[in-house]
Amino acid sequence: MKITDIKPLPVWVGSRNQLVVKVETDEGIYGLGESGLSGRELAVVGALKHFREFLIGKDPMQIGRIWQELYRSQYFEGGRVLLAAQSAIDIALYDIAGKALNVPVYQLLGGKHRDVIPCFATASGSGAALIDDVKLLRKHGWNVIRTGPMMLDHQGGFTSEGDIFEPRESIAMTAKWLTKVREECGSDFVMGIDYHHRLNIAETASFCQRMPMGTLDFIEEPIRDESPEAYEALRKLTDIPFAVGEEFASKWQFLPFIEKHLTDFARIDLCNVGGFTEAMKVAGWAEAHYIDLMPHNPLGPVCTAATIHMAAAVPNFAWLEVRVTQTENLYYGQSGINDAEALFPVQPLLVGTSFPVPTAPGLGIEIDEKLASAQAWKFWEAPHWKRRDGSVTNW
Ligand SMILES: [Mg+2]
Repeated sequence: MKITDIKPLPVWVGSRNQLVVKVETDEGIYGLGESGLSGRELAVVGALKHFREFLIGKDPMQIGRIWQELYRSQYFEGGRVLLAAQSAIDIALYDIAGKALNVPVYQLLGGKHRDVIPCFATASGSGAALIDDVKLLRKHGWNVIRTGPMMLDHQGGFTSEGDIFEPRESIAMTAKWLTKVREECGSDFVMGIDYHHRLNIAETASFCQRMPMGTLDFIEEPIRDESPEAYEALRKLTDIPFAVGEEFASKWQFLPFIEKHLTDFARIDLCNVGGFTEAMKVAGWAEAHYIDLMPHNPLGPVCTAATIHMAAAVPNFAWLEVRVTQTENLYYGQSGINDAEALFPVQPLLVGTSFPVPTAPGLGIEIDEKLASAQAWKFWEAPHWKRRDGSVTNW
């Protein structure tokens, strides 16, 4: 079997782009993968074009060797753009191998440890609406719930006052309402928050110290992740477990966070870290340090399908992120239609609060390529947030 083409299929789904990648072979078997770099997808498409030049004609079953060749074939190796492209190809190659051998991908990773993949939901309401969201999720059986940072009239990740984000205002409001959530909804569920790297060390410390012990079970990326030393400093100022790693592109970016125990949950993203080949190495390394995986999965059904297979095949697993729940659906656009439903005619579907582990060969995911060209990629920018003094801050 030989690779005959690498096709980027950038599509618009709901309120954002997804970059699906199709790898074709001369035997008619093809595989699908997805890039995890949300935003700047054209850079990933460019990297895929470079990789295509030397992948055509290669044996798609030599997955590990291809990984090394993709990584080592340029002097300036690595980085988030190249690894996002590499991840998509690696995932697609596993899809091909599973189909060629007539087994689900988890079988290629050592077999399944579990029959279902437990997930967590996100409650995105602000103020009293957060309590309503948490109650709604609890009623539907969710026992792991993540929230987000609040901001005055903050709704769904945006503010209506010109994309202003003031950390001190946010932590005061968020700490107050998270404390109320525990008072009103109880302590018999896991609650975390993703601060979307919007704080600095001092702000994170103040935020954590404003809530009674036991309010939060984890805090996800309170600060940016470029500096493990910053997380070392933060570790001394709070005892709330950290969940870090969704942007890491390769085992080497995970290295200090695992070795120095700067994350308690590995927020690995299969579509950023380097696909299955790299993710399984990080998973084993995390297992050696008693760290469970809590995979990042905010993208499309290809990422979800792939992550389900990885989650099935590792012992050290916590919960998978899912963004189609009673409180949110990232696949719905302004038209009110689920853009992913027809586009991916075969895709994993949530049953209750978990995904059953699929049994079909490969990943168990299909894309309608005609619809893919109709739902074409479009230019999109993440919000460019500012402080009240006019300076730039993180979204
Ligand atoms: Mg996050």
